[in-house]
Amino acid sequence: MKLSELGEFGLIERIAAKAGREDGLRIGIGDDAAATEPTPGCLTLTTSDMLVEGVHFDLSFCAPQTLGRKSLAVNLSDIAAMGAKPRWFLLSLAIPPSLSVEFLDRFTAGALEMAAEFGVTLIGGDTCSSKGGLVISITAMGEQKPERIAARSGAKEGDLIFVTGALGDSALGLELLRMGKPDGEGVKRHLDPTPRVKEALILSERGIPTAMIDVSDGLLADLGHILEMSGKGALLRLEALPLSPFFREMAVKSHDDPYRLPLSGGEDYELIFTAPPAREEEILSLFGKGSIPVSRIGVITPGKGITLLSPDGSPYHPGKQGYNHFIAGN
Ligand code: ADP
Ligand code: MG
Repeated sequence: MKLSELGEFGLIERIAAKAGREDGLRIGIGDDAAATEPTPGCLTLTTSDMLVEGVHFDLSFCAPQTLGRKSLAVNLSDIAAMGAKPRWFLLSLAIPPSLSVEFLDRFTAGALEMAAEFGVTLIGGDTCSSKGGLVISITAMGEQKPERIAARSGAKEGDLIFVTGALGDSALGLELLRMGKPDGEGVKRHLDPTPRVKEALILSERGIPTAMIDVSDGLLADLGHILEMSGKGALLRLEALPLSPFFREMAVKSHDDPYRLPLSGGEDYELIFTAPPAREEEILSLFGKGSIPVSRIGVITPGKGITLLSPDGSPYHPGKQGYNHFIAGN
């Protein structure tokens, strides 16, 4: 079916028919605004992320379903980074008329699949036509008790710095996609990231993080935001950076600096958080077997900026590294 046959309201009805309902939703899709019931004692956290065709995604790289999943995932990651539980989302679309209804069905199915995985409900949005590419804007809302919210500004001198999962896979995946090699763990992590909602709640419910952020722009940039807002510096040990087996294998094959992408590559959607040293043992025991690992990568220092130490103990300067392709001669 063509979008022109379905029309704006036909499309909205099609999306609304698949959106679930949940306790706390008083008025959902179909009225002028949605009405939701907040959990008593909680604040509402609201975030928005826009994905623009040609800027954030390339339709020749991604299937509609995974694009739908990722569009919501990046928003859930922001709610997670505050230590909050995601609850609701709004989906706004500017659609080029040439896009098929089948594409939009699959896209919506992907977004709603991700929503179901994390207990989030679609409560509204906006739909219009685009004279350029596809534009996707999602607004997500979450909740948390005020004292459990993890802002960027709370890192203290002597706090340890931790990161969930592994770094660099997504950026490596994007490089592989651009080289026409759409397979492997990195490509999957780039196209279909998992927001660390569960991990964030495990941490925030115990009041562990003094500061937290998700890795969307790369470790150096995102840790930099914590440091700026906390008025502190950091010392990082490169050998402590968590690299996946997939990443290590690729790094061995290449002649590139193995720390370039873990430090500067974006879109891993892992969590960086700081916590007092007294809580290290507890943190490591919470993320034992059967869950994603958490690694200690450094410490908060007085002063400004990030100091990096190479495995041999010498200072490391990422700015002086070249930007040659990671997988040279592959
Ligand atoms: P209005 O003209 O008052 O802005 P709309 O016609 O844009 O109303 O939307 C009608 C209803 O459909 C609203 O409840 C709105 O939230 C919902 N809606 C519109 N577009 C979407 C969408 N892409 N996904 C989910 N709900 C949508
Ligand atoms: Mg509208």
